[in-house]
Amino acid sequence: AAFSSLTDRLSNAFKNLRSKGKLSEADIDGTIREIRRALLDADVALEVVRSFTARIRERALGTEVSEALNPAQQVVKIVNEELTDVLGRGVDRPLNFAKNPPTIIMLAGLQGAGKTTLAGKLGYWLKDSGHTPILVAADLQRPNAVTQLQVVGERAGVPVYAPEKGVQSDGGDAVSAPGETTGDPVKVARDGVELARRKMYDVVIIDTAGRLGVDEVLMKQARDIRDAVNPNEILFVIDAMIGQDAVQTAKAFDEGVDFTGVVLSKLDGDARGGAALSVASVTGKPILFASTGEGLKDFEVFHPDRMASRILDMGDILTLIEQAQKQFDEEEAKKAAAKMSEGTFGLDDFMDQLQQVRKLGPMKNLLGMIPGMAAHRKELEQFDEKEIDRTEAIIRSMTPAERRDPKIIDGSRRARIAYGSGTTVSQVNALLQRFEQAAKMMKRMSNKVGGGIPGFGGP
Ligand code: GDP
Repeated sequence: AAFSSLTDRLSNAFKNLRSKGKLSEADIDGTIREIRRALLDADVALEVVRSFTARIRERALGTEVSEALNPAQQVVKIVNEELTDVLGRGVDRPLNFAKNPPTIIMLAGLQGAGKTTLAGKLGYWLKDSGHTPILVAADLQRPNAVTQLQVVGERAGVPVYAPEKGVQSDGGDAVSAPGETTGDPVKVARDGVELARRKMYDVVIIDTAGRLGVDEVLMKQARDIRDAVNPNEILFVIDAMIGQDAVQTAKAFDEGVDFTGVVLSKLDGDARGGAALSVASVTGKPILFASTGEGLKDFEVFHPDRMASRILDMGDILTLIEQAQKQFDEEEAKKAAAKMSEGTFGLDDFMDQLQQVRKLGPMKNLLGMIPGMAAHRKELEQFDEKEIDRTEAIIRSMTPAERRDPKIIDGSRRARIAYGSGTTVSQVNALLQRFEQAAKMMKRMSNKVGGGIPGFGGP
């Protein structure tokens, strides 16, 4: 995942500090040197690295003695705060909606940055939060861009406004040569907004053309679209994988269209992540969203503080809880919590919970958001989703009575279950044993904290 090597390197830099009771100037400088190298290797722009490390050094040298934190922890805390600052001054900047709808959002960025994909995700996300968005296909440059937006819109269940005559034939072969403009994207954008106004769509998302490199024609076209529709947001989409070029590209778009916010895309890749750490600080523009995959839901609102703690492997429990809250059925969760504290939580309930959790996505990703897990990345990579399939298979081979009360499962029942689920008796035993332990723990925990995990609905 993005930042994984940066995370490893930074945690190594801190590891050397952990054993020290009191830090000397030399200790601090040694750590700063490692942090600097880690950042440069992650493709963070030199100018950003310089000011970042200078601030950390200054603060680390000047730290007061704290009772709560040892010196090493204090350095981590400083790095965390500075990283949060670099990622956007530590403030969350929500999307700027127009007072009088429609809100107009224009997407800009290089070709392949992920604009079209983002248009779908943004549309889906907006729709999900009660808006009525429409997508506008003003990328008439790239062959297939219009069709691609239509496909994305259909998947997201969001309407798409496209120029009357498509740029390409049905087969997807470009009628025009790639790079050649056949329609007027400014007119398309203007008409799209007009349509939205008439038909009461409240958010218009305009996909614009990108080139493989920054060029003046592209920039002028983007400017013309901007001036024609006067957007509330101009979102600059940048591929987190582009490394050191990120800064130049961001600066060019900043000067060219004066964007209002940034979207980082492809944060799921093995990006070294430097773009993310450079763009906000070089342009002074906030990062609003992150795109983390090709699916419609691989999309997050960006929070500088949470991203910083993810990078430092302090976990991102808040995002995890938010995702969970979206998926979990509150009533079900309350019932489960009550059963846990009563000690009547059976394997059938366990199966329901397991399925709820699986809806959140691959277990690997979820576990990755838990603090300290980066150290176990190897094991995470090897995490076997099939293990969960096996668990489900075993439970499915049980009768309802057995699921409700696993204590009745004796030797011959175990053999039957193993046979039915295509597993072995020892695998069945292992599951039952784990479940018994977990049930005990749940009972203890819920008695102690008065039930439930916050946000999951307790009794
Ligand atoms: P555009 O030219 O800026 O409109 O870029 P596209 O939206 O067409 O994206 C270019 C390619 O990147 C496509 O193959 C997308 O599927 C892929 N892509 C876009 N966003 C992401 C992302 O967040 N993660 C990954 N892994 N791929 C992405």
